[in-house]
Amino acid sequence: MPLHLRYVTHSEIGLVRKNNQDSGFASPHLLVVADGMGGAAAGDLASAVAVDTLIKIDGHPESGTMLEVLTSAIHQANDRIADLVDDDLSLEGMGTTVTGALFDGSQLGLAHIGDSRAYLLRDGRLERLTHDHSWVQSLVDEGKISVDEAAVHPHRSLLLKVLNGQPANEPDVTTIPVRAGDRLLFCSDGVCGLVDDPEIAEAMQLEAPEDAVRRLVADAHDAGGIDNITIVLADVVEAESDASPVVLGAAATREIPASSHGTAGRGGGDTDPVEDTVIVGPGAAATQGATDDDDESRYTPQPPAKRRVGRTLAVLVVLVLVLGAALGAGYAWTRTQYFVAAADERVAIYQGLPDGVPGIPLSRVYEIQDLKMASLPPFYQTMVRSAIEVESLNAARETVSALKVTAKRCQGRAPSPTPSRSPAATPGGTGSPAPSSSGATPETTSSAVSTESPPSTSGPGTSSPSAPSTSAPDRNC
Ligand code: MN
Repeated sequence: MPLHLRYVTHSEIGLVRKNNQDSGFASPHLLVVADGMGGAAAGDLASAVAVDTLIKIDGHPESGTMLEVLTSAIHQANDRIADLVDDDLSLEGMGTTVTGALFDGSQLGLAHIGDSRAYLLRDGRLERLTHDHSWVQSLVDEGKISVDEAAVHPHRSLLLKVLNGQPANEPDVTTIPVRAGDRLLFCSDGVCGLVDDPEIAEAMQLEAPEDAVRRLVADAHDAGGIDNITIVLADVVEAESDASPVVLGAAATREIPASSHGTAGRGGGDTDPVEDTVIVGPGAAATQGATDDDDESRYTPQPPAKRRVGRTLAVLVVLVLVLGAALGAGYAWTRTQYFVAAADERVAIYQGLPDGVPGIPLSRVYEIQDLKMASLPPFYQTMVRSAIEVESLNAARETVSALKVTAKRCQGRAPSPTPSRSPAATPGGTGSPAPSSSGATPETTSSAVSTESPPSTSGPGTSSPSAPSTSAPDRNC
């Protein structure tokens, strides 16, 4: 007898961010969470593209296994992101995580890239179904830091792999057999990056799925609510469910520009192209209003080899432009690029492109920082020496600040600066999150509690922050 999914969903800005760059989707056969990132209002576009592309495989079983269908949809989403960036270079740097699963009545085909997560609660035990593609997770895997250290690491949100239009980013895929009584959780790092697994397990054990979602949101708020929060929680049940599809977050509101490369905009080929919103050219992203830059440095320590092909191409393009017109657009563009690297055995911010061409340097030192290379642990030195590419001058300065914190901590003289979580914000009287339950008419949910006030110290019963002590030696030094 085939099993069914009964799901509850929620997506919101959180308490700090200015827009919701998460997207999500839930239907009886498809569950997805995508967490977009990148400056210039592009993160929401990236996650919307991912969800919009995956929706097309919902209820349309094509030839191939669930994993093949999912993988191919993710490749297609990646191609669409690449095409959009190609059309509008201001979108460069946008990317998204994707954690998505098809369900066939007995098992999940799960695909995953980035640091959103899927969890399974079975017989009261919580298990992670996905492995974060984050830098701190790689340090954990190598035994360099502990899981607890990873949870408070200043660079814990940096990703090694996302869907960003680059060719090499393959998702992890796996098949998970499920049983009646299993409970699944798909969430963005606004939840699972702030709430630890034991707390998540506790919330997940609440009998009503709506209560579990409400508790997870409250826990994320208590931890500062510093990121967008998206949750898809699904119970595997025997009873047939009449749940309707739900589109969440940016995917519910963000227009996807039609691409000049023939990949379809929202709605694909079956809508009148006249109705498609066509936003082309620079400035398109700027029309999306202000965004915060908190996610801009999410990819910072990408191994240089990753983007080698794209970077080399960019250098060639820039070179041609520079030769063609000494102060042309290409050269001007290099002036908007920054990276962090070593200069005179100090950490420095460079303007330009790290890969110069012999005889024609494409970068110059912009700021030398008061931070000696020798004060950094070897691992970080290697990173800096191979150049850390960033999206903006601000992101470069943030990276340097983080490096300074690391240097200080590793010298062991200054008191260890525990990256404390923000004091708990007590959800106000009316701020209790209201998860949207499936089973009603098709609905779109975005920013459900966007009117909530930022963390307040005046709320009743403000509980004390419980930042874990990090007195243990930091093996990352
Ligand atoms: Mn996030």
